[in-house]
Amino acid sequence: MKVTLVSNVLKVNQTLANENRDRFERNGVAVVNMMSSPGAGKTTLLEATLDRLAGKLRIGVIEGDLFTTRDAERIERKGVTVTQINTEGGCHLDANMVSAALADFPLDQLDLLIIENVGNLVCPAEYDLGEGHRAMLLSVTEGNDKPVKYPRMFMKADAVVLSKVDLVPYTDFDLGEAESDLAKVAPEARVFRVSSRTGEGLEEWCNWLTGLAKRA
Ligand code: MG
Ligand code: ZN
Repeated sequence: MKVTLVSNVLKVNQTLANENRDRFERNGVAVVNMMSSPGAGKTTLLEATLDRLAGKLRIGVIEGDLFTTRDAERIERKGVTVTQINTEGGCHLDANMVSAALADFPLDQLDLLIIENVGNLVCPAEYDLGEGHRAMLLSVTEGNDKPVKYPRMFMKADAVVLSKVDLVPYTDFDLGEAESDLAKVAPEARVFRVSSRTGEGLEEWCNWLTGLAKRA
């Protein structure tokens, strides 16, 4: 019975996700669902991205968080449209939450919408939000075994950002091994080595986002 329940939940989610996707396509906005475990640096990468793309792309952000509005406040300081979704402890975003967050969202005035998912390496992968693209972050402080241990999160990714690469010398993280695992788990994904702190790799990452926005 439980199996049936889960599959119904996902079916309903898929219907709503398809509605969101139609809406994004009608408005010509590229949408990226950004996912990772907690603390991988999603919000920090977003801040650096918004700084770099200011005046070049019109970007909106949906911030998913369990309880606080802290991340949304950080993003709001960048002067972009941001809506917070508090999941009240829920461990992933779903298409219904995103649909509700879009109610007053000026989608027609945006080139790119970035959705920061709840930090979690398991179930966000199962919930299509209607996004056109998925970006996974993997910070070098997490260890390079995560793509093979949590393949479902990585296998549908269009981009994988290896974040905090400035910290590699202080960890056992093996960039080469991570990239060769990713080539097997997520062969379609573009892989970026990024440090939001030093700026390394931000140009390539921002060029990728710009390319998505231009094609939307
Ligand atoms: Mg965050
Ligand atoms: Zn969940």
